[in-house]
Amino acid sequence: MKILVINCGSSSLKYQLLNMDDETLLAKGLCERIGSDNGLLKHERGVEEFTIDAPMPDHAAAIKIVLEVLLSKDRGVISDIGEIVAVGHRVVHGGEFFSDSVLIDDKVEKAIEACFDMAPLHNPPNLIGIRACKQNMPGVPQVAVFDTAFHQTMPKKAYLYALPHSLYETHKIRKYGFHGTSHKYVSMKAAEVLGRPYSELKIITCHLGNGASVCAIDRGHSVDTSMGFTPLEGLVMGTRTGDIDAAVVPYLMEKEKLSASQVIDLFNKKSGMLGLSGISNDFRDILQAKQDGNTHADDALEIYFYRVASYIGRYAAAMNGVDAIVFTAGLGENSALLREKVCAYLGYLGVKIDPEKNAQRGKAMDFSASGATVRTMMIPTNEELVIARDTKTIVG
Ligand code: AMP
Repeated sequence: MKILVINCGSSSLKYQLLNMDDETLLAKGLCERIGSDNGLLKHERGVEEFTIDAPMPDHAAAIKIVLEVLLSKDRGVISDIGEIVAVGHRVVHGGEFFSDSVLIDDKVEKAIEACFDMAPLHNPPNLIGIRACKQNMPGVPQVAVFDTAFHQTMPKKAYLYALPHSLYETHKIRKYGFHGTSHKYVSMKAAEVLGRPYSELKIITCHLGNGASVCAIDRGHSVDTSMGFTPLEGLVMGTRTGDIDAAVVPYLMEKEKLSASQVIDLFNKKSGMLGLSGISNDFRDILQAKQDGNTHADDALEIYFYRVASYIGRYAAAMNGVDAIVFTAGLGENSALLREKVCAYLGYLGVKIDPEKNAQRGKAMDFSASGATVRTMMIPTNEELVIARDTKTIVG
């Protein structure tokens, strides 16, 4: 059973074709510069990589090119379009409409549209991608997998902000949480690696990439997470502030003569590790700068570690304990230093790491030292696989 996974951005489209009989990846790629005459497709089939220049005036044109490549004799992996049984789409915001993945119909499309205001950068291109696939593959079932869905199990005490209740009722202002597919995948995988039932474990997952969030998963259910109404809240991120006093918004508007949207733009795109370090949003550049003696880089790193550790402590309290702490995504998977620095705050919980194990890379691992009462793990995330699995379940 071959399933195509699509993740649409405003001018880009990522795809993976998976054989879900044995969960193997057949091909993957990325279309860039959609909306222009000089679109670019980077396509990978196993170890082979291809770059294709082609006009991509819109997402429908990009999908058409992807399908042509997947079908082509020299670069492709299928011989008939009918081999693609279903398409799974990443959709960022499902609001309170969706607590699970769904088969897409007109009603689902309308609900995704109803969430446009809450995710203006993500949901519109997600819906464009869905419509482009329907246009190019009529009759093939399309499934939506939401970043927010996994967190719909959060209790009110975790998701309500202390605003007048009418604002929640009228505008649905509340915490939604994101990265749900990743938190779900790595927490389930952690239970598998530990050889213990998922339904018995208290797990804290740290998705630390350019965007970053922590999630408390109590016996299989997300009970709290650090991102909020939008993906701005919570941890310090590559370019995002994370938690900040809301009163800073009008203060900056007045002092810097900025509009509200300019302040939010500043919080989203020019802050976080980039803003603090003044160097880059990329952890590797900041680590290098720290080594070169840059004190802003050093401060940025310390603030980052501290914020992650603080959230872990908060969620251990929220669940009255924790069995495993899991690190994933770009930084969580690749930076042994980050894991070491964060874990250094957590001795009181029973965390004790083995530096040699922590130095390993690539595959899922438990890097706890003997005597640790809380397991510390690194699990590579695979959001596309979750999307493909959900799609298979729904159409299967
Ligand atoms: P993601 O959003 O999950 O793709 O993560 C991207 C981020 O991961 C980059 O911006 C880097 O900050 C970080 N990253 C990737 N590789 C490494 C590495 N080897 N060491 C430290 N950070 C890394």
